[in-house]
Amino acid sequence: MALIVQKYGGSSVADAESIKRVAKRIVDTRRAGHDVVVAVSAMGDTTDELLDLANEVAPIPAPRELDMLLSSGERISMALLAMAIHSMGFEARSFTGSQAGMITDSQHGAARIVDVTPVRLREALDEGAIVIVAGFQGFNRDTRDITTLGRGGSDTTAVALAAALDADVCEIYSDVDGIFTADPRVIPKAQKLDHIGSEEMLELAANGAKVLYIRAVEYARRHGVLIHARSTFSSSEGTYVLGEGMKNPREAEGAAAMEEPIVAGVATDFGQAKITVAGVPDVPGKAAEIFKIVAKSGANVDMIVQNVSATGRTDISFTVPKADSAAALKALAGEQTEVGFQNLVHDDQIGKLSVVGAGMRTHSGVSAVLFEALSAGGINIEMISTSEIRISVVLRDTDLAEAARTVHTAYGLDGDAEATVHAGTGR
Ligand code: ASP
Ligand code: MG
Repeated sequence: MALIVQKYGGSSVADAESIKRVAKRIVDTRRAGHDVVVAVSAMGDTTDELLDLANEVAPIPAPRELDMLLSSGERISMALLAMAIHSMGFEARSFTGSQAGMITDSQHGAARIVDVTPVRLREALDEGAIVIVAGFQGFNRDTRDITTLGRGGSDTTAVALAAALDADVCEIYSDVDGIFTADPRVIPKAQKLDHIGSEEMLELAANGAKVLYIRAVEYARRHGVLIHARSTFSSSEGTYVLGEGMKNPREAEGAAAMEEPIVAGVATDFGQAKITVAGVPDVPGKAAEIFKIVAKSGANVDMIVQNVSATGRTDISFTVPKADSAAALKALAGEQTEVGFQNLVHDDQIGKLSVVGAGMRTHSGVSAVLFEALSAGGINIEMISTSEIRISVVLRDTDLAEAARTVHTAYGLDGDAEATVHAGTGR
């Protein structure tokens, strides 16, 4: 008998029918003899609808009240799910984040989990109940207020519960079958991975893959939680995300050890914009000034390139999430005379392609394959950056899908069959 934590995303509990389907899955797990703890997201687009409502009554909703409002989405789905399980003859009890002991800091809208005290969950499990917990929310001890963890936070709830309860596995259910070598919506020949290292998963998530949230993967890595990403809409097995030193459960069951590929996957990101600060005086301290201004605007800088200067002036380009670019531009424009640059150029028609693989540490020639594939495809590269296990390039956004397909083929990642894509958003 195992203790299994399961997380169901919004698209898995979008309506009454889906809730009943999820209830059946949970009951099947219970019937197999396991203890089950479930973290659930709000139904369908509930969170977005609540946000829209808030914006209709107030231009800038008060953060405390916004968390009160948004946390109610998960209270609806958790109670309905518990009811559905009852009607199948099983005992289930739902708990809000604060009842479940999800203790966070006081940062409304982006709270961090600081402690988990699942006393009531343990009691309920000991009494033989299936436990349902509202995802995405917690409680701050100092302010005694309800907090939320940020969009997509239910993944983190599930992983934190799995860590606190020392669960055997944290199953994250969404509308895709697992982790793929690329987004199957962009690359139809993407293949489902049997497993992936948590380090690789973090790089993919940070560079555009949406199937798992980066904070949940980080939390799992830190606390040694085994994640199994799988689909609510099929019974097929998904992908294991293995932390350091973790053994693939399938190999433990006797499957032959698989050879690790050099490249695990290709990520595509359409969400970045490029800002060029042109004609910057080429003297020490200018980059520091520029990025201090950008940081103060709250924009999160990703890639940076600086051109060689010929005339005592240089251009510095960097990328930021599209949503941050207006604030960064405004902040820079306000300090143009102080910094002494000539002008600002904004370009939001870019796409970012990343190739990720732990094998890059020990194999040479990995980047050459990428550059050759892009060159053969006649695709122009505008920026390049690398980490130990990743190579990223910025391209025209109209080239991104084609570039990703070419590169996916060049690394030998193409599968034989087209990947099944269930309707939905990947959540
Ligand atoms: N309901 C929240 C959201 O849509 C949390 C989640 O789905 O994980 O962001
Ligand atoms: Mg959601």
